[in-house]
Amino acid sequence: MTCRKINTGRLRGIICYTPEFKAGDPRPEGYNAFYEWAEVQHKAGLRQKRCGRCGKWNFPQEMSDKTIESRHSKTKWGPEIITQVPMCKSCESNKK
Ligand SMILES: [Zn+2]
Repeated sequence: MTCRKINTGRLRGIICYTPEFKAGDPRPEGYNAFYEWAEVQHKAGLRQKRCGRCGKWNFPQEMSDKTIESRHSKTKWGPEIITQVPMCKSCESNKK
């Protein structure tokens, strides 16, 4: 059982719940569940990667194995640099 103090202005108190997440589990719905889940993933050594498309940070199980091309140049007239950046699963499924 994990207890957490909450103090979000109108909402004050302590919530207790049993964490049921394991490393590699998919992202749950709901803020409290998400927080607990993210902590479990982090403790298990999983680190978030930034999606090159939406810019959100995702744990490895949420990342697609596909990459997208990111084009940018250091200066206005400089040569264009193309790098392969990782993409998350939700961007992959929204891609069309
Ligand atoms: Zn994304």
